[in-house]
Amino acid sequence: MFSEEELLPISGLQHLAFCERQCALIHLERVWEENIFTSEGRILHEKAHTEEVEIRDGIRIARSLPLKSLSYGLVGIADVVEFHPTCSREGVLLSGLAGRWFPYSVEYKRGRRKKGPSDKIQLCSQALCLEEMLNVDIPEGALFYGKSRRRLVVLIDKKLRNLTLSFIKKFRDLLAEGITPKGDYEPKCDSCSLKEICLPQIRNSALSLSRYLNSFFEEDDC
Ligand code: SF4
Repeated sequence: MFSEEELLPISGLQHLAFCERQCALIHLERVWEENIFTSEGRILHEKAHTEEVEIRDGIRIARSLPLKSLSYGLVGIADVVEFHPTCSREGVLLSGLAGRWFPYSVEYKRGRRKKGPSDKIQLCSQALCLEEMLNVDIPEGALFYGKSRRRLVVLIDKKLRNLTLSFIKKFRDLLAEGITPKGDYEPKCDSCSLKEICLPQIRNSALSLSRYLNSFFEEDDC
């Protein structure tokens, strides 16, 4: 079990899965730059967080739900957790409401579906917290993408759980080590909120230049 002081922010797992350097810049060096992608994402999140509880088509919708897992050492906020009515005794009881309910986490994202697993890892870590908090199994959740305005159903299966656990460990190791790793320019850098601070293209140019200069010294030594 982890203590309150040892809890990792769930959002950091998504940063880590997107780029190790970005994660270190945000969570080690406390750097944050808002760009069009993060501001659009923030607006979408704020929309998701406008009302705390709503009931629609029999589904109870909780917004901005605080999450915590002392077993996995995680803390965060779920954009939306839907509670679907169920006849199954495996559903959870909700205070002041009759019947049983199945929690279903929905994470809101701007833009299109990303290539990597970062969004799924974030969703899975939310499910791990909800399972511990509500003592229930959560087999699936969903990602909502602002661009397509569609939901992607995500199975919280063993493979995704193992991947998420490996990123939790990696995140903890990164913070313990306290070293910001280098990062090379990749297409994903164009949508990175820290591009202007990280300067991956210039850094790569500088690296190439130093290699170029070093090659002269190496030749002189021969
Ligand atoms: S600009 Fe690229 S290398 Fe730098 S933090 Fe962002 S994604 Fe990582």
